[in-house]
Formats: sequence, C-alpha cells, structure tokens
Amino acid sequence: MARKFFVGGNFKMNGTKESIKSIVKGLNEAQLDSNVEVVIAPPALYLQLAQDELKKEGVKVSAQNVYDKPNGAYTGEISVAQLKDSEVEWTILGHSERRTVLGETDEVVASKTKFAIDGGVSVVWCCGESLQEREAGNTVAVVERQLAALAAKVSGDDWKKIVIAYEPIWAIGTGKVATVQQAQEVHEAIRKWLKAKVSDAVADETRILYGGSVNGKNCKDLAKEKDIDGFLVGGASLKPEFVDIINSNL
Ligand code: PGA
Repeated sequence: MARKFFVGGNFKMNGTKESIKSIVKGLNEAQLDSNVEVVIAPPALYLQLAQDELKKEGVKVSAQNVYDKPNGAYTGEISVAQLKDSEVEWTILGHSERRTVLGETDEVVASKTKFAIDGGVSVVWCCGESLQEREAGNTVAVVERQLAALAAKVSGDDWKKIVIAYEPIWAIGTGKVATVQQAQEVHEAIRKWLKAKVSDAVADETRILYGGSVNGKNCKDLAKEKDIDGFLVGGASLKPEFVDIINSNL
C-alpha cells in the first residue's frame, strides 16, 4: 500500500499571535503538493487561533502533548476530550524534549498514546537515541525498547492512528542532520520490528517520519529513501522553507 507522505511542523514553545497568523497565512497562500498530509503544532494557547486562520485543504493543527486522564485535578494539563472539543485531531507525543527535559518515560508516552487514540485523536509518536547511545552502538536497541513499550499498550486498529517519527536527539535543533543512510537504516529497522512484532500490514502501512535539522535543502534526498515517509520539522517549520519541505517530492 502506498503510504501518504506526511509533514509535521513542531513550533515547540515559539511564536506569538502575530507570527502564527503569518505562518498560517503563508501556508494558505502556498502551492502545496496535494499528495502530502500536513499538520502544524503551535503551542496549546494558539491551537484555536491557528485552527481559525487555516483555510488550506490537507493542513491540520496538532497539539504538542496531551494528558492521559479524562479530566480533573491535573493543573497545567490538557485533555484529549478538550482537543476533540476544539476539533484538534492530532497530537505529538513522546518528543525527546518531553522525554529528557520533562522526564516522560517510555511507559508514560505509551499510555498517553493509547489514551489519545481511544479518545479519537491521532498521534505523531516520537522515538530516537541520544548521541551517547548512538556512539555505544545502541541506536536500534533504544528505538526497539521505545517501540516495545508502545506495542504493549496499543493494538489492532490503533496503529492506523499512529505516525512514527524517528528523531535522533543529537540531530534535533543542532543543524547536524543524520545522513540519508543513517536515517534510512533506522527507518528500515523500525519497519522490520513492526513486521516481526506487530504485523505485515502495520509494517507496510505505518508512516515513519524523520526529524532532526530537516531543512529546505536536505529534505529532497531524505525523501527519496524507501522507508522515509515524511518529516517532523522543528526550526524550519517557522520559516517559509517549510513549504519546500512539504513539497520535497515535487
Ligand atoms: P529541528 O527539530 O527540526 O529544529 O531539529 C525537530 C523536532 O524536534 O521535531
């Protein structure tokens, strides 16, 4: 089955009302490859604004995080039901900044993923190794450990609501992109793992994005690899070159 190319823009804790309006305006006016599914993830405070301003078919908004409890005394958190109520259909989960800076474990990320899916919100689920782990030769083992925690919580049709983003931590925000070969190798390993541990169909149909210093220049070569089905973009998603990344295959 052909996997539809997917590009996510993760604004992280950046932006103002003005700058987000201007990014959305840029997307509304751009010529975008109609074969690409696009989500932009502004800070939670601006989800509604981005949603209201977006007029482009094929582009949706995504949260950057969501909590795994229905509602109640969880100060500072946002629920899946609140995302649904605001017509937000996507969330990023397990970004390495939340894992490393905010202490989210593999199990917490998996639990949030299951909770989001059960509540009808699709997930860009992130994984990836640190520089130390790569240098110790543990890249695939780390990613497989993260995947195993996910697979322990989700099953069956849940996988249809998951897009995997492989993001080596050492490549995020550093300008140090993984080589095409380094990225393809891990993507292939993820697909193999899905085939062995989940199913042929899930291995075949799940989109696996690359993230980490993707820009308007390096995206085309990465996009040609057979197991790279799109990108999760940080810094460059705030700039006009985000359009070039969306249009990597043109
Ligand atoms: P970057 O971030 O593109 O700025 O490296 C990617 C990400 O964190 O998703």
